Amino acid sequence: MCRCMSSLYRDPDWAEKVPAAVEKVIDRLTNGCVTWEDVACRLRSAEEEEDFSLTDVWAAGVVARSVREMDTRHLSEEATRGPKNPYPIYSAVNKDYDKHPGKGTWFEFTPHEAGYSDLGAFVPTALLRSRFWGGHVEKEVGEMDMLRLQGVCGSLLGDPELIGEELRKMIWYWIEQHLSSEVVQCNCSACEVIRPVVDLKGCIWDDELSLPLIRVLEEKLGDKVDGVWPVGPETWKNAGLKDREVLLDRICSAAETWLVDQQDNGGPKCNIMWVMLKILKKLGHWEWGTVSNFLHKLQNSEIPVDMQDKEKMHLIDAGLFMNSPYPPVLRQEREVDLILSLDFSEGNPFETLTKAVKYSEAMKKPFPVVDESKIKDVYSPSDFYVFEGTGSAPTVIHMPLFNIHNCKDKKDISRERAEYSTFRWEYTAGETKHLLEKAAANIRNNKANILSEIEKAVRRRQQRN
Ligand SMILES: [Zn+2]
Repeated sequence: MCRCMSSLYRDPDWAEKVPAAVEKVIDRLTNGCVTWEDVACRLRSAEEEEDFSLTDVWAAGVVARSVREMDTRHLSEEATRGPKNPYPIYSAVNKDYDKHPGKGTWFEFTPHEAGYSDLGAFVPTALLRSRFWGGHVEKEVGEMDMLRLQGVCGSLLGDPELIGEELRKMIWYWIEQHLSSEVVQCNCSACEVIRPVVDLKGCIWDDELSLPLIRVLEEKLGDKVDGVWPVGPETWKNAGLKDREVLLDRICSAAETWLVDQQDNGGPKCNIMWVMLKILKKLGHWEWGTVSNFLHKLQNSEIPVDMQDKEKMHLIDAGLFMNSPYPPVLRQEREVDLILSLDFSEGNPFETLTKAVKYSEAMKKPFPVVDESKIKDVYSPSDFYVFEGTGSAPTVIHMPLFNIHNCKDKKDISRERAEYSTFRWEYTAGETKHLLEKAAANIRNNKANILSEIEKAVRRRQQRN
């Protein structure tokens, strides 16, 4: 759902015509199309930038394909729009500080500024990618577009091994799609080697088809790979299906190594192989969310020294740190009176809330008291929880997406949660509508409660002023 939010903002007045705007999004999710060639072209130009990282691969290969568009707008374009739409705030965390959370951890992007929510250090969003030295722009670089921003904010960097494997699978899937749809067969040296690997993937159980490919690959790759070539025709012949899968994986790795070595020979000529090579190289370094560090050599005593030392920073998905963007909303200057927390997290629907409590304590920010006995029903949550604010603490309304009011029972809740897991990239129009209906039901069923809390918050504000 978050992946779709930014696309609503394509329309400068979307908030005034929500049903039509939602229909538009559903239509695009159903009928939009991003081809592998589009992805390859995008990556080919992204790779020329000095901040190219796996985030670009993720944005083009996973995000763009799942939302079915390449959104090349810029966030700063929304700065002049006025208050018709809710003000958008995107969040990320600085990868170097997510293990030891502090003021340098939480990063926010708005149409006006981008920077560290808790440190109070910002630059105009349009200048975020530019190279800074001592607080001045040394070299201006174009603003990151919405697609890259979506990549940064939705990179889901959980288990590196899992994501790495996911990306490798994705690369091979691209190659298969590309080679099977090629109108004119490419005969560049890379395609000549990669094509038999792809063909082999499609026929590992068939001796007649696979054995000739094994011979071809041994001839092409056998002496070009460090160590012993993993499989000759005899080994292949005697291997069962399970073993052949393992051997195939080794052949893929060998082909990947071979391709990376091609860099020294000028690299492959065709788009897709070239992109594959670049991604494989980045995978080796596991570099994500690279952006020029605007605090570089700032010489400001309020900024930690190591943050001023680095030329680059690395911004990644804030979700693993806290899957709800409390920190930017709790910025003192924003003087927020009420937080409506629509919780879409996978798993424990109260985790974000308990993390927000801990965060507020650590950062000494006003936050309402959250009575833990009220948030125990992890598997059968209600749809409306309110934690009233006192003093300068805002009121927090917490609404788990799937709950005992919009689902039949506990079992139904866990079925829905599994159906809409974080790692699913594509949904049918029916599934999207179903999900939106669940979210809409929560608001509909609690309209009176929400309005009453808003009124209370307004009264509280009036008393304070
Ligand atoms: Zn080629």
